[in-house]
Amino acid sequence: MLSRAAISSQLSAKPIKKKSYLRANRAVRSGVLTIKDTGQKQGVRLITDYQQPTQTICTIRGKSKMKIYPKSLEDLIVQLSRLPGIGQKSATRVALYILRSRKELAEALAASLMEVKDKIKFCPVCFNFTDNEPCDICSDSNRANGVLCVVEGPGDQIAIEETGVFNGRYHVLHGVLSPLDGVGPEDLKIGEFMARLERERINEVVLATNPTAQGEATAHFLADLLSDKGIKVTRIAMGVPMGGDLKYMDSMTLRHSFKSRIEV
Ligand SMILES: [Zn+2]
Repeated sequence: MLSRAAISSQLSAKPIKKKSYLRANRAVRSGVLTIKDTGQKQGVRLITDYQQPTQTICTIRGKSKMKIYPKSLEDLIVQLSRLPGIGQKSATRVALYILRSRKELAEALAASLMEVKDKIKFCPVCFNFTDNEPCDICSDSNRANGVLCVVEGPGDQIAIEETGVFNGRYHVLHGVLSPLDGVGPEDLKIGEFMARLERERINEVVLATNPTAQGEATAHFLADLLSDKGIKVTRIAMGVPMGGDLKYMDSMTLRHSFKSRIEV
């Protein structure tokens, strides 16, 4: 049986139907996937779900690549290429660098990876990453309780914190709705968000998802869910950035900045 990383790299390389790709890729991410060699033809593999092993999600055809590097190095390249923003070439460069470096680098890297996986977990309240339960922001008594800022990921929360303008609490969704990638409300921390609204006395929810198509769709989805809760729902303003130049702005950004103009 192939490793999940190997399946993942094959899936992105093979021209399979988009719907099958999404199902299979989602199964890879959630770890409920197995892969079987058919045994009839070289390089033909069936991808099936653990829960429904008789049902094939998709087949991958094609001869398997000839191995250039020793297996352990090949495995490291496959693992590194699973990281976001790192393709096959970058993964190979990093793997060869690690191989050439002193052993201490590999040991420190491996120890850090394990430490972060062991110590960092989700805050049970806001779902940000933390090594305390609840996290420092959730347990800070100086912060305003009634205002909740909803962000896509931990990086967005850090960016807002650095501005120092917001003194309320956060809720991290860990993604945005994206039907084309197979990401629905059940894949985000939306259920937990709604449960939190029942539990805590929230007066205002600030929707701070990114101004992308998916971020906007997610903000609208959440606004709809909150429409009958009697909670003030606000959206962060979008428009011309500081130091920007109107003649170089795209029309969508300019349209948004006119819509969200303020009295001065
Ligand atoms: Zn928290």
